[in-house]
Amino acid sequence: MEKTKWEHARVKPREIEKYIDNGKDFIPNAEIEEKIRPQKEPDQKRVKDILAKSMSIETLSEDELAALLNVTDEKSWDEMKRVALKIKHKVYDNRVVTFAPLYMGNKCVNNCLYCAFRKDNDSAKRRVLTIKEVEKETEILAGKIGHKRLIVVYGEHPETDADYIARTLKAIYGVKVRTKNAWGQIRRANVNAAPLRVKELKKLREVGIGTYQVFQETYHKKTYEKVHPAGTLKANYAWRLYCMHRSMEAGVDDVGLGVLFGLSDWRFEVMGLLYHARELKKKFGVGPHTISFPRLEAAENTPFTSASKYKVNDEDFKKIVTLIRLAVPHTGMILTARERPEIRKEVISLGCTQFDASTRIGIGAYSDRYSEQEGKRQQFLLGDTRSLDEIVREQASEGRITSFCTAGYRCGRTGECIMDLLKTGQEGKFCKLNAILTFREWLDDFASEETRIVGEKVIEKEIDQIKEEDWPIYPQLMEYYERIKNGERDLYF
Ligand code: SAM
Ligand code: SF4
Repeated sequence: MEKTKWEHARVKPREIEKYIDNGKDFIPNAEIEEKIRPQKEPDQKRVKDILAKSMSIETLSEDELAALLNVTDEKSWDEMKRVALKIKHKVYDNRVVTFAPLYMGNKCVNNCLYCAFRKDNDSAKRRVLTIKEVEKETEILAGKIGHKRLIVVYGEHPETDADYIARTLKAIYGVKVRTKNAWGQIRRANVNAAPLRVKELKKLREVGIGTYQVFQETYHKKTYEKVHPAGTLKANYAWRLYCMHRSMEAGVDDVGLGVLFGLSDWRFEVMGLLYHARELKKKFGVGPHTISFPRLEAAENTPFTSASKYKVNDEDFKKIVTLIRLAVPHTGMILTARERPEIRKEVISLGCTQFDASTRIGIGAYSDRYSEQEGKRQQFLLGDTRSLDEIVREQASEGRITSFCTAGYRCGRTGECIMDLLKTGQEGKFCKLNAILTFREWLDDFASEETRIVGEKVIEKEIDQIKEEDWPIYPQLMEYYERIKNGERDLYF
């Protein structure tokens, strides 16, 4: 099908070419294929050395990751999983951050074989939220559930272009809801959208975009061509591959990478993520803020989702999560509600730092009359539709604190700066304090009685630890804590 005028004008070749070195992009397909070819199992000393490097919170080299990919010995894998968890503790302690997705529209000019929003899917019910509807959705998320962070998701379409994204972000930040004893408000809106231009990203920076997330879907070029039909906008691999370069140039230096696992060999994709992370660090001095690793899920009227021969089973999925944690030890890792509850529970303990909860992905699904899942309105089917309250309780009963903190971003602790603080463990200290304060807020404002009781036990332990370790900031923490208990909100370090 012919591209429309709007589609033709989207890609600016200059905004790809300027970043390319010696005519080649930074994903050398043949080299990666060679590296992941099954080779001799690395000896134990080599594995130990690599794990020691991960433990010192250094990004691995491509060869080091390839060596880990060749490990088959079960005992070594157990050790790798243990180290992954230790790294998570070292960098992020026992905190996990929560957020919710907010889908803005399902109109799309592309035809990605795996997605129910693709334009040829005529069973999809299409619509784009109006600003009023965006506000209504936000009111439920911030005022009833208690979320402070969103990932706002857009199809690629003239009706959901960069101007629309800017308008909707403003609308989201403008919503303030009176709850029992507080104002519910979204404090950070991350965006998952199509590749944008530098000028557009600058505009989004002005309205306070959080992380800009674009998944490459697959780094494997032949597969990329197959699943993104020629003639569509998304078929342009390089326009997508370099969108994070444009983001960095625009000053949006919190970027989120991702792969849709199930399109191609997962080993190739894990390597692709590392090449991408290293390229950003090399060119801009800062790697990705987060990495996402969604697995291909069933979607209404989308036969490709069951036909792909690369679908990833649970055991390999756990390996993927472990390898990402080891390869880029300080990067945030996002585990979504695509996964079933039992897998989420297990995988969070392998090093994930963020999860979504109370997840609804139909357009208008939070405020409309809507059952948990409606295939005709969703991009794919969810594995976990549990409430935030339930998941927070589950995490707390495992000794984890759910953080609603967004302070780092508001204090300028972002991009390179936050990554350095994370590596040296300093950000962890701010985060620990803010996690306690924001968790206290949420328990008071939104939790069920049952969850509040379990949550308070975790807070008590955290506070005891800070006291025992004699942190000089302890008295101020307790002052803030008491003020929050008495109804004040949004106090942070
Ligand atoms: N339209 C934008 C784009 O393609 O970049 C926004 C992304 S889309 C709404 C969010 C992500 O969902 C995609 O990048 C893709 O990785 C993922 N996705 C699409 N279909 C999926 C499926 N069937 N199962 C799991 N994830 C899927
Ligand atoms: Fe459109 Fe994104 Fe779905 Fe592709 S993955 S069809 S670009 S919404």
